[in-house]
Amino acid sequence: MTTTDSIDIQRAADWVRNADGIVIAAGAGMSVDSGLPDFRGTDGLWTALLPAGMTERDIGSLTQGDCFVDKPVDAWQFYGRALQVCGQCKPHAGYALLKRWAGDTRHGAFVFTSNVDGHFQKAGYDEARVLECHGAINFMQCGEPCGDAIWASGNMMDEVDIEALGLSALPRCPRCGQLARPNFLLFDDDHWVETRTSAQWERLRIWLRPVQRPVVIEIGAGTAVPSVRMFAESVRGPLIRINLDESDVVGEGVGLRGTALDVLSAIDAALA
Ligand SMILES: [Zn+2]
Repeated sequence: MTTTDSIDIQRAADWVRNADGIVIAAGAGMSVDSGLPDFRGTDGLWTALLPAGMTERDIGSLTQGDCFVDKPVDAWQFYGRALQVCGQCKPHAGYALLKRWAGDTRHGAFVFTSNVDGHFQKAGYDEARVLECHGAINFMQCGEPCGDAIWASGNMMDEVDIEALGLSALPRCPRCGQLARPNFLLFDDDHWVETRTSAQWERLRIWLRPVQRPVVIEIGAGTAVPSVRMFAESVRGPLIRINLDESDVVGEGVGLRGTALDVLSAIDAALA
């Protein structure tokens, strides 16, 4: 943390202390501190996930909605490895700090995240209190799709030799036998099944209703795909914006420049 003012940290801590519910709005910057790259970006870590013979330039084609139809083996090698990495990675200490603060409020927390890594649930957050606006890598759907079914992928990729993954070994839809794919939203994606995310939206609306003094903690949310920022700004209540590069806030709120874990730790120290 460099330019964050201790007065701003104190203001943020006061809002957290006085809130009766915490809205956590998390973007890629929340995952980065656990060692995970943004799956939509071209971060260097993703280069290591690329199938043999492909380069960083090919990441673009592997984030398009048709990639599981056009080149399923490449797409599954890429995302199968990502699933392995997400499974091995542990959520950083910031998840536990937020969870503890939420435990001191009347209504607890609800998470809105564009991250597909499932790390809030892995950190012990209630599945019924998480909205994954771009879906999740650890859930699957039919690639067609033949219906609305979404199922947990479990540990199916844990022991798989990704390099040797061929067409016949790819996961398939239990209903129609077509190839399956992860249930997250790609770019220009006509095939994504949104039933799970729609149900999460409904639960968020119901949770928010009785909350009278919400505080919104937005963490590491980018401006290129502003889903998380737009949501955070749509919630009434003060906004705590934690961001390494773009922390300006318009309206009631405070911008804290720094990484997720550094700033959350600073707020925690102010709360003590
Ligand atoms: Zn199917």
